[in-house]
Amino acid sequence: MSLADVLDRAAAGGRLTFDEGVRLYTQAPLHELGAAAYYRRMQLHPGSDVTYVIDTTINYTNVCNVHCTFCAFYRHEGSREGYTMSHDEVLEHVRFAADQGATQIMIQGGVNPELPLSWFTELFRKVSERFPKVDIHSLSVSEVLGLAKVEGRSVEETLRALKEAGMKSLPGAGAEILVDRVRKRISARKVAPDGWIEVMRQAQCLGMPTTATMMFGSVETKEERIEHLEVIRRLQDEHAGGFTAFIPWYYVPHNTYLRGNEASGYEYLRVLAVSRLYLDNVAHLQASWLTPGLKMGQIALFYGCDDMGGTIIEEKVVKLAGSTNEATRAQLERVIRDAGFNPVIRDTYWNLRPEMPLATANA
Ligand code: SF4
Repeated sequence: MSLADVLDRAAAGGRLTFDEGVRLYTQAPLHELGAAAYYRRMQLHPGSDVTYVIDTTINYTNVCNVHCTFCAFYRHEGSREGYTMSHDEVLEHVRFAADQGATQIMIQGGVNPELPLSWFTELFRKVSERFPKVDIHSLSVSEVLGLAKVEGRSVEETLRALKEAGMKSLPGAGAEILVDRVRKRISARKVAPDGWIEVMRQAQCLGMPTTATMMFGSVETKEERIEHLEVIRRLQDEHAGGFTAFIPWYYVPHNTYLRGNEASGYEYLRVLAVSRLYLDNVAHLQASWLTPGLKMGQIALFYGCDDMGGTIIEEKVVKLAGSTNEATRAQLERVIRDAGFNPVIRDTYWNLRPEMPLATANA
């Protein structure tokens, strides 16, 4: 089959084989890849709406026993630079975000073995009681596994306890590239790819919505990026709709043990487009503007993305690795509108929230 035929089939929603995915990713001209991804995005989400969520990330602790080589955020247990917020401090950050209209809170941090499960369940109960309009979309697979280990409980029991306390959904953080070879090179102490998938499977079985991410640009090959997409697509086939969105983002190699070159804009757009085409069963593709910046995030809207992610009012993990990008709601809305789209506020579950006023008026 010619490259053009494969592109046409993918644009129409046809399923790509692994080899076809690699072929499109490595051989298709950028604009043709982008045009096919944009066509597919428009099929899935006709119209000009581009969504975003008002959210914040609260990095409650930087103490972590996983020691990923690409992470500039963590500190060893016992480090004088280590910190853990009190519940009151976390709640103050939640209040700050809620006052600005946030509907989603990502409470995420290192895997700190000093914190028991009760620390999180009590915190989530307090957040739910005091800020009922805010959804707790929090923790990561690594943190959930760390808690299960500390408590000697199963992943299912741990997730169930977190859910009962108010955690509504599990973000896809910590996936990086779900291929053993890559995992061993960049985060050998982290859960293996099969373990990441199993925690996500358990969360989805409990009815928790989840997202999936891909951190690319470290040591993986192009084929391994497609392998990662294949792993996500397979789990999504099992639990239709379990992943609400896919969020590919690239690693920034500043202040980190792992060295390398930051992915280019060209590479970023190729990854977005091939992700949109390969993940035929994942509804939303998010423009993760935090590392490439808002201007590249805007261009991403023509390469398959239908969502601009969040305002990420506070965030440290990516910033400490050298990213200096920030955005106000007005800036997010402006780049969406300048690209010819219509900004719309959503919540964690992609429900549109028309009752929430935009920061800027529609012309
Ligand atoms: S990326 Fe997460 S799990 Fe890895 S060292 Fe940093 S805080 Fe720990």
